[in-house]
Amino acid sequence: MECTQCGTDNGAQSKFCTKCGAPLAAAHNQTPIWNPLTVTSLSFVFTPIFSSDLQTSNWRSLGQPERAASSKVWFYVKQAYQSEMQIRSGGVFGVKPLLNPA
Ligand SMILES: [Zn+2]
Repeated sequence: MECTQCGTDNGAQSKFCTKCGAPLAAAHNQTPIWNPLTVTSLSFVFTPIFSSDLQTSNWRSLGQPERAASSKVWFYVKQAYQSEMQIRSGGVFGVKPLLNPA
């Protein structure tokens, strides 16, 4: 990793320049995101709604607002589908939704 301040070539894993101490780009620009594999597994444990919400936050962290927006659309589509299925099946775990007592 080359230092942007002084041009010294540092090791790939270095977080700071060995010569001038400046933070190196890779360490500097790292954005914490949700592991895509974890997101997929969580959608089995919880619902796809949950994982598309995480995906949305991933895209936002990566600076891709258009992709974040399209993930958000899926979030609403899945949520609408899920509530429709819950109403048709008589509610979650046999508990009927209050707004639809029929
Ligand atoms: Zn440097």
